[in-house]
Amino acid sequence: MSQHTHQAAAAPSTKARPALKVCGDCNLCCKVYDIDDLGKKAGDLCHHTGHIKGCGVWGLHPKTCQDFKCLWLKHEDLNALWRPDIAGFVLRLDPNGTTLNIDVDHARAHAWRAEPYYSQIKLWSENFPSKGLVLIHAKDGLWVVTPTEDLNIPNPKRGDTLETGMEDSLFGPRPFVRVIPQKKTPARRRA
Ligand code: SF4
Ligand code: SF4
Repeated sequence: MSQHTHQAAAAPSTKARPALKVCGDCNLCCKVYDIDDLGKKAGDLCHHTGHIKGCGVWGLHPKTCQDFKCLWLKHEDLNALWRPDIAGFVLRLDPNGTTLNIDVDHARAHAWRAEPYYSQIKLWSENFPSKGLVLIHAKDGLWVVTPTEDLNIPNPKRGDTLETGMEDSLFGPRPFVRVIPQKKTPARRRA
């Protein structure tokens, strides 16, 4: 959902204004997400992406795109190394702020495992609230990052619920993740 000039709203403040971040050459959010309004699947670059990477239907692009700003764009603590096209993934928090989602470029499926990213992602997994999650959405499935292990779910389905926690094992407590499939609505019987 490349926008290229996300202008910060002017706010009355006596503090020095942080440097304005702009998308620049990045357009990774136009690639890594399912966008239902466009019938676009995660991993496919949107066909509206223009020759110079901007949006070819800017102004008429779906509301999902208009509303989107990745965490790198919003957070001044994330430096230039974390710009999505450089890092190889897009960071976003879910609306209630408890899940950090990392959507990885399908062309660079292991980008999140490179340094300095991986160490920081592990730190985030330690510091997240007790019910929070750090999730990696990659070509090889969904990964739940925990401080000690990264747990893979190869074929996640939209609408499934994840249950996570610790369980006893031969080697002591270990993290687990279970998938609870979305309940199917029972078919209505015809009268
Ligand atoms: S419509 Fe525009 S902003 Fe939305 S994904 Fe496509 S190119 Fe990106
Ligand atoms: S991923 Fe972030 S920096 Fe890249 S185009 Fe989208 S909003 Fe801009």
